[in-house]
Amino acid sequence: MDPQGDVTAAHPSRDTRLRTAPPGVLPYYLVVEATAVVLPFAVPSAAPTAREWLFFAILLGSAAAQTELSAKAERMRRFLSRNPHVSVTSVWFFAATLSMPAVLASVLAVLLYAHLWLRTAEGVPGSRLYRATCSVATNVVTIFAAHSVAGAFGGGAAGTVAAGLTFLLVNTLLVMIGFKLHEPARPIFSFAGSAAENLLDAATMCLGAAAAALLVVRPWLVPLLVPPLVLLHRGELGRRLELRTRDAKTGLLAIAEWRARAEAELGRAARTGAGCGILMIDLDHFKRVNDTHGHLAGDDVLRAVAEAVRGEVRIYDSVGRFGGEEFVVLLPGIGQGHSVAVAERIRDAVAELAVEVTGGARTVTGLSVSIGVAVHPAAGAAVDEVLGAADKAVYEAKNSGRNRVCVSP
Ligand code: GH3
Ligand code: MG
Ligand code: MG
Repeated sequence: MDPQGDVTAAHPSRDTRLRTAPPGVLPYYLVVEATAVVLPFAVPSAAPTAREWLFFAILLGSAAAQTELSAKAERMRRFLSRNPHVSVTSVWFFAATLSMPAVLASVLAVLLYAHLWLRTAEGVPGSRLYRATCSVATNVVTIFAAHSVAGAFGGGAAGTVAAGLTFLLVNTLLVMIGFKLHEPARPIFSFAGSAAENLLDAATMCLGAAAAALLVVRPWLVPLLVPPLVLLHRGELGRRLELRTRDAKTGLLAIAEWRARAEAELGRAARTGAGCGILMIDLDHFKRVNDTHGHLAGDDVLRAVAEAVRGEVRIYDSVGRFGGEEFVVLLPGIGQGHSVAVAERIRDAVAELAVEVTGGARTVTGLSVSIGVAVHPAAGAAVDEVLGAADKAVYEAKNSGRNRVCVSP
């Protein structure tokens, strides 16, 4: 699992070396690592059979191939820069957990992490090694826990399901505790990951179970799982990159992405001779909302306003967060009259908002926005010209009393 959610989110372990970590972090890592070292000696297990060595070799080869194919240097760096979590790689660990002694499955985890680490070792910042070590330890503890649960069920379908649940649960808990120690102020459940991430983790366990079953009947077909896993991994990375094009707070387009779309749209408008409207929206007296209800409530209001704006435009219009409490809207193919009509609709929608804010039964009402409208080509050819004109119109709206729409001359 990856409780961090978005790779862009600041995470202490990303920038902070272990030696500057909050108290409790180092002892915790040491305990997890010591447990991982002791477990293979403490838990009795039979020596692997020749068949289990074959399974081991096939899983190791497949995992190494998947790592090479799906994790080019940059991606592996990103992989290693995050804390231990269930990742697509867990397919191999879980398959190993189900089909060989826990010690051998743990050796697989160690080798796979060593592979990842060697492939990203340029410049070797010490913190990378400690993170990799910590990831391995977490995985070893997880493997032993899931393996013993599978054993307790005596194999079979129920044992597989129980082992999968154990794998997810133990890994998640170990990660959550580590994160909580890093950021004591945050509630522990905020590190549990999003629903989408947990679904991906569950899917990973399903594939691991399928790989284990395939090992028994057709071991040499297991490498066929590599291409779909590479694609799954890429899709997941794609989703993460998509997150970067969005503003995390409101879900609107981040300004760089909005600008790129605006540039493309104005270019097209210039070729086709169509118009294109741009709205600049500024919340009125938003500072008062923060001052009266607090910044968390302010964030709720920002989200509600963003939603209201989105609700008043067409699917192919682009809404971006320009900055703090300012939003921009791109209205392709639309001239001045229609742009003003859209702006008035947005103003009405915001005025009608009753936002229930965090931390109690309070509702914020009486919101309003000042909107500046500028239209390409009248206001200019380049995005910045049209935006500048819309911005001037916002100031005019503010100066003439707020809660109104003004058009750039
Ligand atoms: P005006 O009607 O003149 O626009 O007044 P205003 O209070 O809306 O404008 P001002 O620029 O004075 O203050 C904007 C405030 O928006 C100040 C800043 O603290 C707040 N703000 C900016 N970004 C965020 C955010 O992400 N969350 C919260 N809660 N507040 C924010
Ligand atoms: Mg402002
Ligand atoms: Mg404002």
